[in-house]
Amino acid sequence: MRSVPSILHLDMDAFFASVEQASKPSLRGKPVVVGGLGGRGVVATASYEARRFGVHSAMPMAHARRLCPNAAFLIPRFELYRQVSDIVMGLLRELSPLVEPLSVDEAFVDLEAGQYGGLIRSGCPAEGAELARAVGEDLRADILARVGLTASVGLSGTKFLAKIASEQAKPDGLVLIEPGREREVLAELPVRALPGVGPATAETLRRIGLTRISEVAETSEDELVRLLGRAHGAGVHALALGRDDRPVVAERDAKSVSVEDTFEVDLADLDRIRSELDRLTERCVRRLRGAGRSGRTVVIKVRRFDFTTLTRSETLPAPTDDPLVIGAMARRLLAQVQLAGGVRLLGVGVSGLADFTQEDLFAQAQREAEAAAAAVAAVAAGAAGAEAKQEAEPDAAYGGPADPRAFHPGAAPARRWMPGQDVEHSEHGRGWVQGSGVGRVTVRFELPGSVPGRIRTFAVEDEALTRPPRCRCPAARPDTPARPGSGFTAAGARRVGLPGAARIRRRWPGRGRPGAGSSRCRRYAGRAPAATGRCPCPVPAAGPGTGPAAGPGRRRGRRSARSAGCCPGPGCARGAARPGRSAPR
Ligand SMILES: [Mg+2]
Repeated sequence: MRSVPSILHLDMDAFFASVEQASKPSLRGKPVVVGGLGGRGVVATASYEARRFGVHSAMPMAHARRLCPNAAFLIPRFELYRQVSDIVMGLLRELSPLVEPLSVDEAFVDLEAGQYGGLIRSGCPAEGAELARAVGEDLRADILARVGLTASVGLSGTKFLAKIASEQAKPDGLVLIEPGREREVLAELPVRALPGVGPATAETLRRIGLTRISEVAETSEDELVRLLGRAHGAGVHALALGRDDRPVVAERDAKSVSVEDTFEVDLADLDRIRSELDRLTERCVRRLRGAGRSGRTVVIKVRRFDFTTLTRSETLPAPTDDPLVIGAMARRLLAQVQLAGGVRLLGVGVSGLADFTQEDLFAQAQREAEAAAAAVAAVAAGAAGAEAKQEAEPDAAYGGPADPRAFHPGAAPARRWMPGQDVEHSEHGRGWVQGSGVGRVTVRFELPGSVPGRIRTFAVEDEALTRPPRCRCPAARPDTPARPGSGFTAAGARRVGLPGAARIRRRWPGRGRPGAGSSRCRRYAGRAPAATGRCPCPVPAAGPGTGPAAGPGRRRGRRSARSAGCCPGPGCARGAARPGRSAPR
């Protein structure tokens, strides 16, 4: 157990919905619901404005529409979310090499393994806690500046408590749980808050009257082991006591690549099921090749009309990325599944990944043989310029076209416009689809840094209206106009050297330059720690909150009450008082 809260958990607030609000100015401050818009769609994320109406993740979209009919209901744009996520994860990796992403918008960071680790460990626990808090607040400000989104940060000595802290910090806050306060914090939480306690375990515990974590903590480990089995029972008992030794594990290679689709209506026709399987195989192979990988095991997943889910798999002697091989295997596996009654969901995956394929070896040998033959032929003909073209043509099917329709011959027609989708008009420029129906499509023309744009309506077949070839991250768009105060535009501005960049450099002068971390370390090292109950310093000196939390876009109140100078005390590792300094600006 750590004595300083050096494990940081970051969770972006209402991530998908917030990205949509950041890139669509007219939606800021309004209820936004992102998810599947079909009859069986579910909510992926709801903005906080929509949550006030009771909308939440995983709720059927039809229910969400009834609860909040005036919300903007949008399709997810995963490519954009991934780009924003990459920027956020990059900021986390600046803090420490030990970053463990849990999803596209959530990650653990071990601050002790990073550049601030020595400082966080070196002082008294209160000093370490205060420095960790400053790093967390700075991170939140950085994220706001870079991508225009708010994030919540939890800090504690264990992963479990750090995650609970970030949950308590939501939205747009930071909560630090000092080591030693675990039992107190956990006491009133329901048992479902424990990692590994799902509905079944919770029901087992409820039957013997355990509904709160404090009740589980007071139960003997033996009884929990008898109830839940050795490993699970002991694990639940330790977590209920706030003990969690799980280390932060840096990102590991993906273990598999898979794709799946849920259908609007159950598929009953075998030919249709096979063609959907082929389409999924193509998508899966495209992803596999995109990652430069191949795999040995092909897996299919079938969810039937009655929600029973079956998986079937087969393993090849050597890894492949050949769509014909994977497709044939997927079809063979499909034949093993009883499909009567209809199929609700289909998925195809490849695991047992490798960086090469058996075909690579054959292809290499073939290329070498061809090169040798061509050289011989060239010499024989005396034609020095007759170089044999060795480079294979790019694989048209899997190499490049960004338009996903190329891989979806049976998918939606090209002129189907979905709410939230990016569009481009030859005259009016970039915008997004606000709605479509009865042969018309309504587009709002606006950009992340612009004022809320105007709406125009076109015929769905209007040739002037096109889909941009790729969904691009607004932050990475050099043509985004600079406007201080918007994270997207500020980040874009920094990249192209526009005025917004100067604002960022003023606030974070060392950011992005060699030695940035060390200069910031020095600033943190000079900051006064807060006095807490655990600090051996006897008298907390009064002082205004002047840490990084005092910057714009941060919560002043939470921290200022706790901020104070550290007095000279017999137990204080630094030994002498330092007056509070100004925050890095
Ligand atoms: Mg989140």
